[in-house]
Amino acid sequence: MASSLEEPLKRVPKMVVFDLDYTLWPFWVDTHVNPPFHKNSAGKVVDYRGCVIKHYPDTPKVLKYLQDKNIAISVASRTGETDGAEQLIQLFGWNKYFQNKQIYPGSKDTHINKISKKCNIKLEDMIFFDDEQRNIVDLERLGVVSILVKNGMTMQVLMNGLKTFSDIRSNVAGEVVDYIRGVIELYPDTLKVLKYLQDKDIGISVASRTGWSDGAEQLIQLFERLEVVSILVKNRMTMQVLMDGLKKFSDIRSNV
Ligand SMILES: [Mg+2]
Repeated sequence: MASSLEEPLKRVPKMVVFDLDYTLWPFWVDTHVNPPFHKNSAGKVVDYRGCVIKHYPDTPKVLKYLQDKNIAISVASRTGETDGAEQLIQLFGWNKYFQNKQIYPGSKDTHINKISKKCNIKLEDMIFFDDEQRNIVDLERLGVVSILVKNGMTMQVLMNGLKTFSDIRSNVAGEVVDYIRGVIELYPDTLKVLKYLQDKDIGISVASRTGWSDGAEQLIQLFERLEVVSILVKNRMTMQVLMDGLKKFSDIRSNV
């Protein structure tokens, strides 16, 4: 996939937003290291015990690449160790890259909306990198192209992410989906349910008889006659309904 470095992209984000812990550096700044931080006589960044603190090896390259391409960069971190995080950013010399930093606990909806407002960049012009699924889910719900980072930022992860952004944003269907997400409120768990199944490699299809407002019980009976394990959803899909349904499937199918 080295060639993707050279591949021209149809659409490029105006801003990249990075998480900090396990995205730009390999630790939780509030747990695994001991602020305050400083540079020792050898010029290394160390914590107060003198342990050397390292970022992921590719991080400076990633930041420099984006700067060279005139793509703005911001930080959205939910750490409670705001001072320590700010110190590390300063000691690593990264402040020259960041247009905005939002570093405090809480859902990243808040962080990203503040960044968007302060920098006057729309959510659909941003790409977000984070190592935690819950943050990816939150920002995807807002329509931000969001990339789960598994082992820290690398140039390859960046390039693949930019490619994903381009594919989604140059695809009209993707824009329509984002638009619908923006104007229609889904049941709160719907995206979580779909994402869970996708992550487990379980295929998903839709069978809708839209326009028919009743008869759900009969439909369930019909599907059961066809020996499809069928679950009557009484109120709405939730993670609990999904888990109970998967359990029922397992019980029925392991019981034959
Ligand atoms: Mg993180």
